[in-house]
Amino acid sequence: MNNVFDQYEVWFVTGAQLLYGGDAVIAVDAHSNEMVNGLNESGKLPVKVVYKGTANSSKEVEAVFKAANNDDKCVGVITWMHTFSPAKMWIHGLQQLKKPLLHLHTQFNKEIPWDTMDMDFMNLNQSAHGDREFGHICTRMRIRRKVVVGYWKEEETLHKIAVWMRVCAGWADSQDMLIIRFGDQMNNVAVTDGDKVEAEQRMGYHVDYCPASELMEYHKDIKNADVDALVATYFNDYDHDASLEDKSTEAYQKVWNAAKAELALRAILKAKGAKGFTTNFDDLGQTDGSYFDQIPGLASQRLMAEGYGFGAEGDWKSAALYRTVWVMNQGLPKGCSFLEDYTLHFDGEKSAILQAHMLEVCPLIAEQKPRLEVHRLSIGIDSETARLVFTSKQGEGVAATVVDLGNRFRLIVNVVDCIKSKKLPKLPVASALWIPQPNLEVGAGAWILAGGTHHTSFSYDLTTEYWEDYAEIAGIEMVVIDKNTTIPEFKKELRMNEVYYMLNKALC
Ligand code: MN
Repeated sequence: MNNVFDQYEVWFVTGAQLLYGGDAVIAVDAHSNEMVNGLNESGKLPVKVVYKGTANSSKEVEAVFKAANNDDKCVGVITWMHTFSPAKMWIHGLQQLKKPLLHLHTQFNKEIPWDTMDMDFMNLNQSAHGDREFGHICTRMRIRRKVVVGYWKEEETLHKIAVWMRVCAGWADSQDMLIIRFGDQMNNVAVTDGDKVEAEQRMGYHVDYCPASELMEYHKDIKNADVDALVATYFNDYDHDASLEDKSTEAYQKVWNAAKAELALRAILKAKGAKGFTTNFDDLGQTDGSYFDQIPGLASQRLMAEGYGFGAEGDWKSAALYRTVWVMNQGLPKGCSFLEDYTLHFDGEKSAILQAHMLEVCPLIAEQKPRLEVHRLSIGIDSETARLVFTSKQGEGVAATVVDLGNRFRLIVNVVDCIKSKKLPKLPVASALWIPQPNLEVGAGAWILAGGTHHTSFSYDLTTEYWEDYAEIAGIEMVVIDKNTTIPEFKKELRMNEVYYMLNKALC
């Protein structure tokens, strides 16, 4: 998949009316065309904008929104009121619109032409007037949307649209997302579990179980030559000890077996059209050796980099969320990964959390070329096990998770500062090290109060704005933990949300 955004478009609909005469609508249309061309030519928007004309009546609004619903390429609709567009004419259309909505409050001309402005000009250029009327009906109808205010040629305005577009693409992608679970949840674990039926209604993705025996049907069909070729790719792409290439060693055999596992997993995911998967280390091996001989950690690492969602221990919510993060993150520089909060490091203001697990960290976040190594791993399958070892980049990022609170899903987002990790000579796994904002005490405290997982979908490139847009589109609760968070205010927010979601049944 070279550019996931190429398959999508966002529609642009300009609100107008016929009160000011046909000439006015022609001018509105020309301005809108120029604006849409300008948006596309800015080079700042990942998804193509398609101008769908002016909407001048209830029938026209309804027609264009219905068409948007039915067009698979259309992942969102931008509306803009160049003139006044009486908002009752938007009611029927808005009642039906299923695609994400962005209301762009901008104006064709940047500044008031003080010396020449007359009443005709003002009637044509009255976004300040028309966009308020449109905003009112959206609010009255409780329509979830993003409101972007700013001049359409300005970088900041374009950036806000671009963020929303990436989220729209991630959202569209998740509407036909299939997550395959190899094995069930890890026994007794609460936070990774949840209501799969509600998740499909609310977030779009579907979760299926796949028995290990079916995976093994693919495993046994993998050709040795393909495995040899993949092993050669590993040796080419990753640092490694020269001795690892010695075919007579157990370590080489383990790398070879890991490559075969990767090919089998990719083959079954492709055959099923799945966009993500989960594993459970308690459910990966069979005593007769007919299944994987080691945890397929290397496969999980590489498949994540390719865009497959992954969640450990049967965590299908994280698998789905990581896939969405990967889509939104496309083309951005620093990368994303599934991560697990593991070990605390108390060090005053620099107190941090080591993000590591057994093996499954995505190499997209590596700060150096990953190193292919084979070491013993006794959890799950006790075996010498291939993996990519690296530490991760420094800088700010966001960690996100979705938990099921019984009556609703809650998206929890924490802004974190990734810092340089020290060497871990006795723990040869991939890792990251971060300080949750505003600091470990408040950040981790708020996360725990919100009921957050020890699993997150992390990105250096996304910001809380992406998640705000995502939560708005999905209609799920979102809480943000960042440099402004205090525990008393955060507790208040959780309590208020409890009431809000109890009363607002449509969102529960
Ligand atoms: Mn875990």
